[in-house]
Amino acid sequence: MKAIVVQPGAGSPVVVERPVPEPASGEALVRICRVGVDGTDYEVIEGSHGGVPDGDDQLVLGHEAVGVVEDANGTELEEGQYVVPTVRRPPAGVETNEYFERGEPDMAPDGEYVERGIVGAHGFMAEYITSPAADLVPIPAELAEWGFLVEPISITEKAIEHARATRSAFDWRPESALVLGTGSLGLLTVAMFATTLDYERVYCLGRKDRPHPMIDIIERLGATYIDSRETPVSEIPGAYEPMDVVYEATGYAKHAFESIDALAPNGVAALLGVPSDWSFEVDGGRLHRELVLHNKAVVGSVNSNRRHFEAAIDTLDALPDWTLESIVTGIYGLESVDRAFPKATARVAAAGHASAGAPDDDTTIKTAVEFRDI
Ligand code: NDP
Ligand code: ZN
Repeated sequence: MKAIVVQPGAGSPVVVERPVPEPASGEALVRICRVGVDGTDYEVIEGSHGGVPDGDDQLVLGHEAVGVVEDANGTELEEGQYVVPTVRRPPAGVETNEYFERGEPDMAPDGEYVERGIVGAHGFMAEYITSPAADLVPIPAELAEWGFLVEPISITEKAIEHARATRSAFDWRPESALVLGTGSLGLLTVAMFATTLDYERVYCLGRKDRPHPMIDIIERLGATYIDSRETPVSEIPGAYEPMDVVYEATGYAKHAFESIDALAPNGVAALLGVPSDWSFEVDGGRLHRELVLHNKAVVGSVNSNRRHFEAAIDTLDALPDWTLESIVTGIYGLESVDRAFPKATARVAAAGHASAGAPDDDTTIKTAVEFRDI
């Protein structure tokens, strides 16, 4: 079968031949249809995040997949049923641990999990994968074409749940939300705040010049675009309004601290970005005081569990079709896999190597690789 692999830090993804996997007891064989690409995949390709399984020098990429059950292998799944795999699994050689037993692998610390396609386990960019049936979430056939968006939406389902939980001790009635970042995670989250979560006022911070398709999506959702080059995050309360919720999806480390200034009293900031090490000065005393005297909270959130995937399927069903059609800017077959990774191809080209793919034109939001028609 064909699979897309990468040697982290050593170039662009390539298509290789690998054996079709055999499902073990309790596992099903899934034929993969589509797999999404996100900022995390680029971090894995660069070698700045994640890593290959022990004893391997390549990683099969992909953690945002939808496929169809090919061989249910005696599990409760049905052949022909569309499914979305969750991402975390117990470490190699370990059957389970307390986090997996509780259904909360997303809360496991380092060393207690691997992540398929990210760290320590092969991902889903292959014609076939196997997975424990319990980690395959059924999705209705009519949503299957967008099924690769379930994983990223589930990331926001979890982050919002945790943000809400920090405010659950009082009568919190949030109206305003600010999303930092116009990448695929940021824009999906703007769509959620503006439609399914029904916030009254939604803002999104980016650094794109008008006219730009990302700004068009933000405005069509009824949200306000803020240019970070004109209005730094800490000045947003004065220029617009203080925010009940800030959702950081840039990976730009200064935003983590600036979010505290952007919050309204009693507000909460959810941090999602995964920055590299970066030392810079902050006024720690002022930020500490701000958190305390205005009952503000900051919460980090990573990954998601099966419950968040199930919620994400409902959200996917409720999001307007035009948002999905505009956020997904390209779905490519294996013959043009370079085009699914325009940022990796652009970086290789910038480093002086030949590039067969289209350069990143700055309008790509979300791409996916198609292994099989839906
Ligand atoms: P992208 O790289 O597609 O998006 C990041 C966005 O942030 C880009 O639009 C980028 O703008 C923007 N940005 C960066 N710096 C600034 C700045 N100073 N001012 C304004 N905008 C800025 O990534 P994703 O959307 O896929 O993911 C977002 C982040 O979330 C990443 O760090 C990713 O690693 C992380 N992530 C975390 C998960 C979790 O479980 N916690 C899950 C998935 C992703 P530009 O296009 O101009 O560069
Ligand atoms: Zn992802």
